[in-house]
Amino acid sequence: MNDYQTEQWNALLLASQLLIEIGAPEVDRLKREISPYLAFRDQVDRFLKAHFGAHCNQSCYANSRSACCSKDGIIVFWADVVINALNSDEAQLDDLKQALQNPLMGRKCTYLGQQGCRWQVRPLGCAMFLCDPVRDRVFQADKGIEAQWTAIKKKAQDFRWPDKPVLFDYLEVYFMEMGGRSTLMHINNSPGLLRVKRQAGVSCPSLRRTP
Ligand code: SF4
Repeated sequence: MNDYQTEQWNALLLASQLLIEIGAPEVDRLKREISPYLAFRDQVDRFLKAHFGAHCNQSCYANSRSACCSKDGIIVFWADVVINALNSDEAQLDDLKQALQNPLMGRKCTYLGQQGCRWQVRPLGCAMFLCDPVRDRVFQADKGIEAQWTAIKKKAQDFRWPDKPVLFDYLEVYFMEMGGRSTLMHINNSPGLLRVKRQAGVSCPSLRRTP
């Protein structure tokens, strides 16, 4: 495994281990807490399917180009890993381990499989990615769609951008307070994101509080 895969591997193993450690009732509680985020992700998927599905299929999927799923190019957050783990069974998590050890397409994202992405809930960064050519084509044809996308992007920030208490920070702090440490805990590792929190006066939520 290369450095990127090793980093992902460590985060996946740690998240799986900590979710076992907290036990089923707490896992159920976390699942309830992420449910607004999953509803948002459904909204994103519906929007993309309605307005971009045909374009993406034509420009990328049909010819296996998958230009957006580039090798080691996706910034994955700890919360992405946890949310996906909460929505995966053991076999699905094993499939991700397999993808990290033996990627199917060496020149593409390690997680790309025959049927597309092997995550159950793709990282937010992937879900929100639109390539320039397709985005320009769709937005130029309909400014209303562009306005909808702007609103969706703003909503995505409400889950991840830490200028206020957000789910992604909460899921980092929750597991940090158990002693978990991952380089994917960007909100509490990245000097830039720590500065955003500091300037906004956001303090970390504590372990048993909801975001
Ligand atoms: S994680 Fe999934 S959606 Fe994101 S780049 Fe990799 S294969 Fe594509």
